[in-house]
Amino acid sequence: MGLPTNIAIGSRVWVEDSTVAWIDGEVLNIKNEEAEIETSNGKTVVANLSRLCLMDVDVPEDGVDDMTTLSYLDEPGVLHNLATRFQLNKIYTYTGNVLIAVNPFQRLTSLCDAHLMERYKGAELGRMSPHVFAIADISYRAMIDERRSNSILVSGESGAGKTETTKLIMQYLAFLGGHSFAEGRTVEQQILESNPVLEAFGNAKTVRNNNSSRFGKFVEIQFDNHGRISGAAIRTYLLERSRVCQISDRERNYHCFYLLCSAPAEEIEAYKLGDPRSFHYLNQSSCYELDDVNDAQEYLATRRAMDVVGINENDQEAIFRVVAAILHLGNIDFAKGEEIDTSVIRDERSMFHLEMTARLLMCESHALEDALCKRVMITPEEIIKRSLDPLGATISRDGLAKTIYSRLFDWLVDKINHSIGQDSNSRFLIGVLDIYGFESFKSNSFEQFCINYTNEKLQQHFNQHVFKMEQDEYTKEGIDWSYVNFIDNQDILDLIEKKPGGIIALLDEACMFPRSTHETFCEKLYQSFKSNKRFIRPKLTRTDFTIVHYAGEVQYQSEQFLDKNKDYIVAEHQDLLTSSKCPFVASLFPPLVEETTKTSKFSTLGARFKLQLQQLMDTLNSTEPHYIRCVKPNDELKPLLFDNVNVTQQLRSGGVLEAIRIKCAGYPTHKSFHEFVRRFSILAPQVHEEPYDEKEVCKLILDRVGLTGFQVGQTKVFLRAGQMAELDSRRAEA
Ligand code: ATP
Ligand code: MG
Repeated sequence: MGLPTNIAIGSRVWVEDSTVAWIDGEVLNIKNEEAEIETSNGKTVVANLSRLCLMDVDVPEDGVDDMTTLSYLDEPGVLHNLATRFQLNKIYTYTGNVLIAVNPFQRLTSLCDAHLMERYKGAELGRMSPHVFAIADISYRAMIDERRSNSILVSGESGAGKTETTKLIMQYLAFLGGHSFAEGRTVEQQILESNPVLEAFGNAKTVRNNNSSRFGKFVEIQFDNHGRISGAAIRTYLLERSRVCQISDRERNYHCFYLLCSAPAEEIEAYKLGDPRSFHYLNQSSCYELDDVNDAQEYLATRRAMDVVGINENDQEAIFRVVAAILHLGNIDFAKGEEIDTSVIRDERSMFHLEMTARLLMCESHALEDALCKRVMITPEEIIKRSLDPLGATISRDGLAKTIYSRLFDWLVDKINHSIGQDSNSRFLIGVLDIYGFESFKSNSFEQFCINYTNEKLQQHFNQHVFKMEQDEYTKEGIDWSYVNFIDNQDILDLIEKKPGGIIALLDEACMFPRSTHETFCEKLYQSFKSNKRFIRPKLTRTDFTIVHYAGEVQYQSEQFLDKNKDYIVAEHQDLLTSSKCPFVASLFPPLVEETTKTSKFSTLGARFKLQLQQLMDTLNSTEPHYIRCVKPNDELKPLLFDNVNVTQQLRSGGVLEAIRIKCAGYPTHKSFHEFVRRFSILAPQVHEEPYDEKEVCKLILDRVGLTGFQVGQTKVFLRAGQMAELDSRRAEA
């Protein structure tokens, strides 16, 4: 925050404002701790001195490429710089080594241009304007020169531009490491074409983004000794399964369903499809079409991309047949049977869809009906078939749809990996991570819990890295940094993942006891974390809990936690599909061996996710990381609109301000001797007269002013927080 001692009448300052986050103004009057300020929109406001930030009047009109060169590294300075650049279509800005990318929501013509890639090739960071290509280029150079793996971590909230940014990175790496003269399908082409395939099956329109990725993705691009791409591995995380059966208004289901409904006539006829409005899994929302997207063309494009990544014609046919089967499955309705608590297929229409589903999945329709409506109970005495009531049968139907779809998605990822091929000899890789950002909605469930857990992990990684980079710089400049503290978020991670006793462990425990409910689970949380600073028991509810995340508080609703965490397939569904006559469908459901039945019964999504995340962190820890923070300038998805309040929130939760905080704990201002002398020589006028050593002049100036705690390195002056402002105010008086 501001530095009251340096604020005087006439100072230019930033003051907090509810509509534009920070507004600039001039101090008219100061009484005790309160300042009266005339703001640039003509208002007079009163604010406590400690809530003000001094404004740097020396910032160039079109902003700075690297925000660490700002004299006052604070929230309004950062925000103002980003906003200024955004209006000039400069969407990229560095904060040290972190690239901030603001989504332009319009094609900026030169963006994907091959010429532009050529110009970034081998260019030193800072010589060209900030760009994704520059980050990809340094990663590649670092890999070649230092012979070690690198990674690029792209983060930001939904719609911020992560996936588009990731595609630019992959394009650039393919440009650098591609086989330009190779014939046929090259590895890099396959890597690039894996994007449209995965997007067709893993992306959907949401209210936040018309092409929202509903899964996390880590692509590991492998290189040979000559720096050529030699293989790749794609890992995906936590596909949103509920979307297959349940969509909110103005959103869509996964793209592939709509693409298939716009397929050529023969396919429509063969699968008995047609209008998407006739399918329950699609008609829960009134949105069917997307602006500027032609589903028929996208269908053909997806098929072509599937060709490139090595999915043959037969498999493609089977994939879309399964997609069609899911649509028909969703249209099977149930009615009460004659006996109490039983259900039957509702009517002719449902019967038709049952037959169609069975035909497309190549299983018996009676067996399908039984798998949907009945459960086998094994008691010590006998094996009985129990009927489900209509609601139970509907839940069973949706469960089957979700399971089939998620297996299909996993199959695609495996297939792509297989067909691109892994280079087991490769010793260097560049990993690119495109993963969901921090989420805090009105209602937050298990998915948000996992997503925010991921973000805590990545935030820790980020903080440690930023801190280390700072330390490296201090060491290089020969500066003593031993007393700079580092506060991290380990306490939140402990709350979530500690074993035993963390939330995930308690949830797993709850899932193992048949009698637990979300209420007993929550009660257990309340008891266990009574005095945990990161845990809050909200008032007026017995089933919610709040975690104080690094990015803010999130209140979770525990109702579905137990169900969503349980990750085993209903035996009846498994048996049905294992015995499908379609080899493709059967291969999605390999028979379970006796032993895994037991263990997998108790395998939980939370525990599996935790393991996946640990593996990801291990990989990342063995690489040199680079960070790209994507920012969404507005919620209307419109070009040229920069919503300050919204962006500020993202800078806070995206860790950009956290990085700044870490910097501020040490020496936030690093000024080269030359720059320092240029700005402050006025404070020691006599030194102009003789030939001088810039370092000595710096010391002299600092001495004159009587500052303490700063350090002078090999090439730069390192100032503590607030000292730059102090110097500026002296300069103003001089
Ligand atoms: P989600 O978390 O929902 O997957 P995301 O961060 O991956 O979101 P993107 O899908 O990459 O977001 O971007 C959303 C939309 O913003 C894109 O469909 C595109 O219209 C636009 N967009 C993003 N980045 C750019 C860019 N660099 N140039 C032009 N348009 C962009
Ligand atoms: Mg995305």
